[in-house]
Amino acid sequence: MASKNINSAKMKENNIQLVFDAIRENEKISRKDLARKLGLTSATITNIVNHLLRENYLVESGLEESSGGRKPILLSLNKAAHYLIGIELSSVRINCVLTDFRANIIGEIHLDIDAAAGKDVIIEQIIHVLESIIAENGLHREQVIGIGLITPGPCDFEKNLIINPPNLPGWHNVPIKQIVEERIGIPVEFEKETAAAAMCEYWFGQAKDSKCLFLCSVMQSGIGSSVLIDGKIFHGFCSGSGEIGHMMVDMNGPQCACGNYGCLEALADGKALVRSVRQKLKTDAAFCREYGVEEVDALELEDVCARAEDGERLFAEEVAACAKYVGIALCNIIVALSPDTIILTGALADHSPFFMRELKQFIKGRTYPQHTEKINIYHSSFGRNIDALGGVALVFERIFKS
Ligand SMILES: [Zn+2]
Repeated sequence: MASKNINSAKMKENNIQLVFDAIRENEKISRKDLARKLGLTSATITNIVNHLLRENYLVESGLEESSGGRKPILLSLNKAAHYLIGIELSSVRINCVLTDFRANIIGEIHLDIDAAAGKDVIIEQIIHVLESIIAENGLHREQVIGIGLITPGPCDFEKNLIINPPNLPGWHNVPIKQIVEERIGIPVEFEKETAAAAMCEYWFGQAKDSKCLFLCSVMQSGIGSSVLIDGKIFHGFCSGSGEIGHMMVDMNGPQCACGNYGCLEALADGKALVRSVRQKLKTDAAFCREYGVEEVDALELEDVCARAEDGERLFAEEVAACAKYVGIALCNIIVALSPDTIILTGALADHSPFFMRELKQFIKGRTYPQHTEKINIYHSSFGRNIDALGGVALVFERIFKS
């Protein structure tokens, strides 16, 4: 009996989300077309629509043109009745977006921060950004239905804690969700950045129909990942999933900051790439002359990627080596999980189309044709707001759970 209740609740939640998605995609749609499009009975559609109208999520907006008989009433999202906020804390910046109920961005704030300033200062900056984005857009707090707060991992999602992010010194077991909720008085959803990025792609991007989505972020410092199964974030035991940066890809590789050897991020994040290029250039002064590099230690990731793009051999080989290591990790993921979608984000994919081409080529040569021909592998085009928009997606998800 208990399982029947759980299943029917789950089905209702799914149907509400389906109706919401259909209205979001079509802008205006009648109850009859909703039933036809979703294959649901008109009684189910009537119940769901009445619920969404009561909650002020929908409005009736005019009549459909009809060739005869009663003209059907059109439904659309009540875009100005509710607003949502997504806010991302990284080790260098706070990115915040305010959206209407159609997820259109209507305000954004990007504030550079100094990680060394410490937890208390940064929390005040988060609160200030949230208060500012509400006030600057002429809103009251009651009009904001939820906040999606995104932070670096590792996190504990049972206790809603930031545990000890390596690039935010002094943060240990911080109950950030509770702190922000108490200070701002708006419900807060809490998630780590790679999962938020995956939610952004699933809700607002190309991955809407994905059943198994894998997102890999190759950053300047670190490599993270996230899995969505049927649009739900998979946290794993002890909130520990997604640590692909510490997947071993070379038994004889260098030591990683975690203490292990041959971890992916010790070989293929932005820092590892730049370090390897600088080392190569320093082994032979002729290299510097050949490539016109005056100051080796001034070379940064953007320079390395641009030179690889221009076909400069040493740089292209180094970027291709990173693509190979990331490719090894993703081939392992493909055989273990069989995702239908793999999305790349982060500095390396952002700066280097060459990296993406090499990566796809490597995966194509190392996996079964039935996988490689069908898996959608792409670079996300959301740019710097991806994690904050993922926060907005989390608020939408909460609305349909409740
Ligand atoms: Zn490691």
